[in-house]
Amino acid sequence: MKKIALFPGSFDPFTKGHEDIVLRSLKIVDELVIAIGYNSQKNVRYFQVENMKEKIAKTFAAYPSIRVVIYNELTATLAKKYKASVIVRGLRNTTDFEYENSISQVNRDLNADLETLFLITSPQYAAISSSIVREVHRYGGDVSNYLPFEL
Ligand code: ADP
Repeated sequence: MKKIALFPGSFDPFTKGHEDIVLRSLKIVDELVIAIGYNSQKNVRYFQVENMKEKIAKTFAAYPSIRVVIYNELTATLAKKYKASVIVRGLRNTTDFEYENSISQVNRDLNADLETLFLITSPQYAAISSSIVREVHRYGGDVSNYLPFEL
């Protein structure tokens, strides 16, 4: 049986840190669904969601085992839909840990078959966060070093 994993996130924007987690998780699972969480009712994104989906899909065009979707429901429900038994998340620091610890417990309450797999960030990407990239971009700074694609 194929091991299918979900990599959920806001990806606003998708960064080189995310790319690293994707590529490393492919050594462990057979298929990966990159799932961009988006609620059209409260559109608070900085980067347009369809555009981000396209950029991510292009980045991994050479990988048939990766697909990119947009979702607006519980991650645990989405996992069932894609027959995913694993959620992949990245951990940079203790702040990430505190947050991820709670989400992971709740996700397993909602879907008992779902395990969360945490990959520790590669040190060269540890300082990259989507919020910092947004901030730099907002004030006209060059963010190309932080992203796996051209904006
Ligand atoms: P969310 O809003 O769900 O936290 P993000 O798009 O910010 O979504 O992040 C998605 C996942 O990627 C999270 O598990 C986050 O900890 C992880 N992540 C974000 N930046 C990095 C990075 N630089 N290195 C490793 N993991 C990261």
